[in-house]
Formats: sequence, structure tokens, C-alpha cells
Amino acid sequence: MPYANEIGLRMLIGGAVREACVMGYNVTPLFSYYSYHGPVFRVLLRVNRGKLNDFRHYGFISYCHKCGNSQAFTWDELGKICCSYCTTSCTKPSGSLVVSGPLWTGPLHEGAYLAELLDMALQWEWIGNGAGLDLEKVIRLMIDESDPELPFGYTKLDEIAKRAKINSPPLKSLMSTLHKEGYAASRSHIASNAIKTNCPMTTCVSIVKDLVHHT
Ligand SMILES: [Zn+2]
Repeated sequence: MPYANEIGLRMLIGGAVREACVMGYNVTPLFSYYSYHGPVFRVLLRVNRGKLNDFRHYGFISYCHKCGNSQAFTWDELGKICCSYCTTSCTKPSGSLVVSGPLWTGPLHEGAYLAELLDMALQWEWIGNGAGLDLEKVIRLMIDESDPELPFGYTKLDEIAKRAKINSPPLKSLMSTLHKEGYAASRSHIASNAIKTNCPMTTCVSIVKDLVHHT
């Protein structure tokens, strides 16, 4: 998996979801944080009474080495996992598809909760007036990351560049083109030179080729 550390956070959340479910509770992540110091995998969860009825976000993630796309699958689909982007790639021993799970496939954070955190940090003067720049940066980045339109995982720019056979384009120009084309896109707090986007790999490749030819 090209985004193993995000998978780590998702396995942690998935484990908590499973344990809570057995005890008659349901949990959802408020924020999830990975840091390479340690490394640290840390998640703040909200515990609600009542069993989880919606298992949409508890399943499996596949990554296709051939086309570079990821997909989520439910338990019911477990026996018939294939890449729907290049259709021929299945989980045969020689196949190009790898599958992780069971894990949490939903958003890593709750945007509204993070907005409250940011507000509180401002009130307490932990950020603002030049203070706490790193804290403000990471909370704002996590707010971007909690867009429900964004899928799990991230793609390193090097990976797109390798497929396009060009040098890596600036992250900023790729992001703004993706937004202009109507895709959801954000950076990842886990990997610095990577993007999260619902844009398929082939489209990302043609966008970066265009970017290079126009600069
Ligand atoms: Zn594929």
C-alpha cells in the first residue's frame, strides 16, 4: 500500500469501531493524527450510545498497482474484489491488486469539530498574532482533509510524475487545476508531497502533462 501510515490510522479506528460495537456503542473519529516522530498514531473518538447500524465505513480498501487507483469494498463484496478502473486486475496471486482491512473507510476527521477546535485555540491565544503557526497549519489542513468528497488514501506527486514520465509538477498548480476541473483535492497531513483527490489516476496524469507543457 502506498499510504501505509494512513492505513495504520484506519486500522486503529476500525479496531475501536469493532470493540465498541460488541459493547453496544458506536464510535466516530473527531480527529486522527499521524506523526513520523515515534511514529505516533493518535485518534480522538466520540462514543455514542447504541449499536452501529450503518457499516458503510467499516470494510476493505484495495489498491491497484497497475493503474494506481484505490477503492473501498464492503464485507458483502469481499469475495469478488476487482479493480473497476482497469477491470482485468483482481486479487489473484499474480494480480496487481492488494487489499487491506477490515478498517475504517470514512473521513479521518469531523470538520465541524475541527472548526470548533480552531476557534477555541484562537480564543485561548494558542494561535493568532504569529503564535502557534504549526498548530494552526495542521488544524486547517485537517479541516481540508475532512471533506466527505475526498476518498481515503493519498497519492504522492512522484507517483503521478512517474506514470506521466515527467518531473514532479508544483503541488499548488496541480491542486488548483483539480479544483478548477471540479474535483475534490487537498493535501495530506501524513505525507508532505502528496494529494488526496477523487480524480482518477489517468486524469491526474494528463493534468500534470498539460501543466508541464504550459510552463
Ligand atoms: Zn486498476
